[in-house]
Amino acid sequence: MKQTAGALQAADDSAETSTQQIRDAIRDAIVERRLAPGAKLSEADVGNLFNVSRTLARAALQALSYEGLVSVEKNRGAFVAYPSPEEARQIFAARRLVEPGILLEAAARISPADIQHLRQLLLLEGRLVEEHGSAARRAEIKASGDFHLAIAVISGNAIMQRFMEELVARSSLVIALYGQSTASSCGHHEHGEIVDALEQKDSDRACRLMLQHIAHIETDLDMRERKGFNLKEAFDI
Ligand SMILES: [Zn+2]
Repeated sequence: MKQTAGALQAADDSAETSTQQIRDAIRDAIVERRLAPGAKLSEADVGNLFNVSRTLARAALQALSYEGLVSVEKNRGAFVAYPSPEEARQIFAARRLVEPGILLEAAARISPADIQHLRQLLLLEGRLVEEHGSAARRAEIKASGDFHLAIAVISGNAIMQRFMEELVARSSLVIALYGQSTASSCGHHEHGEIVDALEQKDSDRACRLMLQHIAHIETDLDMRERKGFNLKEAFDI
């Protein structure tokens, strides 16, 4: 059957949607640490899981590799990225440069409804901190990242928002590899203090608190090289 230009366009659009959906789903799995650094992501498995062709699976994995979340190795396929200590330092250095700027933009635009939304996120995060079990831990990790993403949304800059999605996801990988405490990647109280400063329209204080907060997350990391701790070698994948 001959396809019309409209049908071709629709097929293109739905391919784009699938790629985006797979990309978001895998990114979420990485952020929530359901997928470990170094885990193999075969095109066939990804295709079967999402019921799409290998071509679409490959496109999604390629897109994630541009974000630094997946590494595609010649003849070996795709893996969840395994950030080096140097990359880890660069990710946090980028956050220290970017997040105060986003926070200043957000402070200039923030509405009472936005403050209320941030407080709701904090309530959820606080409840999850109290709960036990791996599902609650995963939800808490997601919620703490969502706080940083919500501030990027309030800033109104879609490009910075995308950039933050990448930085939060890559931070999560780094914390999965080098984090020492099993607790949250983010200090819940520190998030609350940042919201207080935003509500009081004290953007300088909010920025100072954010920088301290990022420093605290980084301090919890043990960035010594993990000799003999390479998942790819350990599991021969
Ligand atoms: Zn945080």
